[in-house]
Amino acid sequence: MHAAEPMPRADIDKPAPRWIVLKFGGTSVSERSRWDTIGALMRERADRDGVRVLAVVSALSGITNALQNIIDVHADDTACAERIAAIVQRHRAFAETLDLDPDAVLGERLRKLDALLADPRRTSAQLDWQAEVLAQGELLSSTLGAAYLSKQGATFGWIDARDWLQAAPLPNQNEWSRRLSVSCDTRIAPAKRARFGNGAALLVTQGFIARHGDGETAILGRGGSDTSAAYFGALLSAQRVEIWTDVPGMFSANPRQVPDARLLSRLDYEEAQEIATTGAKVLHPRCIHPCRAANVPIWIRDTSHPQMEGTVIARSVASVPGVKAISSRRGIVLVAMETIGMWQQVGFLADIFERFKRHGLSVDLIGSSETNVTVSLDPSDNLVNSNVLEALCADLAEVCRVKVIAPCAAITLVGRGMRSLLHKLGDVWAEFGRERVHLISQSSNDLNLTFVVDEALLDQDGADGMMPRLHALLIASGAMPVDESAVFGPSWRALHADATSRAVPWWRTQREALLELATQGTPRYVYHLPTVREHARALAALPAIDRRFYALKANPHAAILRTLEKEGYGFECVSGGELAHLFKTLPALDPQRVLFTPSFATRGEYADATARGVRITLDSTFPLKHWPELFRGRDLILRIDPGFGHGHHEKVRTGGKGAKFGIETGTLPAFQATVDAIGARIVGLHAHIGSGIAESSHWADVYARLASLADGIGTVSSIDVGGGLGVPYEPDAVPFDLAAYGAALAAIKAAYPQYELWVEPGRWLVAECGVLLTHATQVVEKSGVHRLGLDAGMHTLLRPALYGAFHQIVNLSRIDDADVDAFDVVGPICESGDVLGRRRKLPVATTGNDALLIADTGAYGASMASNYNLRGLPGESVLDDIGLDGGAP
Ligand code: ADP
Ligand code: ASP
Ligand code: MG
Repeated sequence: MHAAEPMPRADIDKPAPRWIVLKFGGTSVSERSRWDTIGALMRERADRDGVRVLAVVSALSGITNALQNIIDVHADDTACAERIAAIVQRHRAFAETLDLDPDAVLGERLRKLDALLADPRRTSAQLDWQAEVLAQGELLSSTLGAAYLSKQGATFGWIDARDWLQAAPLPNQNEWSRRLSVSCDTRIAPAKRARFGNGAALLVTQGFIARHGDGETAILGRGGSDTSAAYFGALLSAQRVEIWTDVPGMFSANPRQVPDARLLSRLDYEEAQEIATTGAKVLHPRCIHPCRAANVPIWIRDTSHPQMEGTVIARSVASVPGVKAISSRRGIVLVAMETIGMWQQVGFLADIFERFKRHGLSVDLIGSSETNVTVSLDPSDNLVNSNVLEALCADLAEVCRVKVIAPCAAITLVGRGMRSLLHKLGDVWAEFGRERVHLISQSSNDLNLTFVVDEALLDQDGADGMMPRLHALLIASGAMPVDESAVFGPSWRALHADATSRAVPWWRTQREALLELATQGTPRYVYHLPTVREHARALAALPAIDRRFYALKANPHAAILRTLEKEGYGFECVSGGELAHLFKTLPALDPQRVLFTPSFATRGEYADATARGVRITLDSTFPLKHWPELFRGRDLILRIDPGFGHGHHEKVRTGGKGAKFGIETGTLPAFQATVDAIGARIVGLHAHIGSGIAESSHWADVYARLASLADGIGTVSSIDVGGGLGVPYEPDAVPFDLAAYGAALAAIKAAYPQYELWVEPGRWLVAECGVLLTHATQVVEKSGVHRLGLDAGMHTLLRPALYGAFHQIVNLSRIDDADVDAFDVVGPICESGDVLGRRRKLPVATTGNDALLIADTGAYGASMASNYNLRGLPGESVLDDIGLDGGAP
């Protein structure tokens, strides 16, 4: 019998493995360790996913710029030779870093690079020659990389990208873009595609370069390696294209300008396209189209943090309306054209645009009125140099009056549904209202709103720059998507905070003790005294500060007062009630360790304070004028309104015209006269501008302002800059930078050594020491919204209802379970504002009964609780190193 084995069917039908295309930018290929990552990422995908992997690489960082310098028309032969020598040297040195023999691996390529100076095309076909020069960077880096990776075991093939990417000429392109800013055709015969890579599973090729129809090298434009990867992704119908760069994704603004920019976890192609074209350099604008047409998802990842999630750009199911990003472009040229002929002259636009077309210039934004048309030219699409502009203006002058406005910057808000958000952008419009805006354009695709302003506006760096300011206004405006967790990931700042700098919160390690306390009745606040001490000591370690007072309105619990007294803190009270409570708790306390800083207090309270001998702060002349007998001959502290406020919410900004606190500096002479009249003295100046402030420069500003006022008064010995230190309530927030705060204060103190520096923080000392224990009551679904009811509500913790404050909510009973759903966490109070957290992902038992914990509630938790709805006040307990304290207030 014939015993031939039947052919296994699976082998015949098995489709060829799919491709994943990875692209690595300049910084991702310039270090040996990065190439180890590249090799590992490629092998991991091939082994784990059974795919073939193509890595598209850029030139080493800075090399394309160096090559561009060589083709610079002004460079003479000697200068060019020097530049080439430097490029050769850089690659030889890098080959040695990779333990490769430079001559063996790069010899041929380096000879070609040298020969380019004598190449006849340098004069006869300048653009071809320029393309050839620019291409060398990618050819060198890919050759080095493939050689290095191949030494590590697996075989890595090398292919010349120009054999696969064919430049496709576009109508009306000028000569420059036909060679140096080309687009490619990604259609390919299936038989040819099957030959791609000759069966190799791991391949390295170049970004940035393609082949022109006449066989010469063509370039995709600066930053074009992303687009090479996209073309390969489309050509190979890849599973996805991964862009590996030096940032972990696309952010809501350039994270290097705006550290608070948020990661955009997921975008659809259209939004990503808009963000890329309006200036986010992280993706080359032309790279989205090919992937979108072939339905290939794009991932953006960080080569130095491969574990971070990054951005996924793909076709979306449901898009979330809202402003997603703000971007900016420099070097924009505006051409303003005024009709000289008749009003509403037929064919005017056709006449002027024909001239742009004639010069191969693509127009970006357009603004028009009846007699003026203004358009913008974007330098990333066009070669806009003075020759081109002169020629264009000469032609335009035949049909209109022309004015060129440059350099300008275009600032764009991107996001779906811009039209319906205009009313929320009031603050953003106001910000622009202060500047000279040359053009505003809102596109009918409803994705973008652009303002063109003078470029110099972008030059201001740091937190006060235009982009950080606008980004902050946008976040505060409510124009960002409502269901923001579906769109935004963590901020750049948070991603880069040292992961270890935020220790595991105390309540995680004390879970058993907390569950036990929860059985004693909830809602219940629990305070962890070691955490109070830790904060107290960290602040006490800053040498610039001479005295520290605890603002006990944050939390007047007796155990906390005793703890801070032992740590050497004084106290700041704002009412007669607080004074009475403080001296009852600490009867032996020296009254000179106590500040009394009330707002609109009664005569009785001042009389009580003077009788106790504490230090009194005044913030208007009213008490002096009406009750002079109380203050005669006394030392007084004066609360100043520095004229501005800061803080996490309007309701906690305590400086500025709108706030009820403090004396305006202009009325200081009148106040001084009143003080003099009763024989009192101003011995201290104080200002407190707000709460939840992250930027240390604010206290330095206040300090400097108070110190200069103090110089004019002459009797002042201390300056009190208040509190306001920010608390990291969000799990990914960065802890307050105490060192920067200390340094900022020390710098000003050095300028005014004659004054004692006082501070009076409340929140920062105690917020993280406290948690609120609560029990679930009900789990209810209504119209698709899941609600988790708690026995704690706005009567227990007012901050979310009053300020929209965020507090982390944790299911203590199921701390290690997977989250089941997103819940609105609500309390039992008959108010629709009684919501403690929205859309919180939590593991929750449908029966209720779980014990939950609301974190960082040590400040302004119990102290703001009320008996509203007659639901009673929360319980309070204390945990210390030595175990449970009695806890009686
Ligand atoms: P590569 O060399 O890897 O191609 P690029 O320098 O071209 O990298 O692009 C990455 C840079 O893009 C980032 O370092 C960042 O400065 C800049 N960038 C600008 N806007 C954004 C944004 N919205 N999100 C992320 N990065 C941005
Ligand atoms: N090396 C090229 C450039 O710097 C292309 C790229 O890196 O994307 O423009
Ligand atoms: Mg790039």
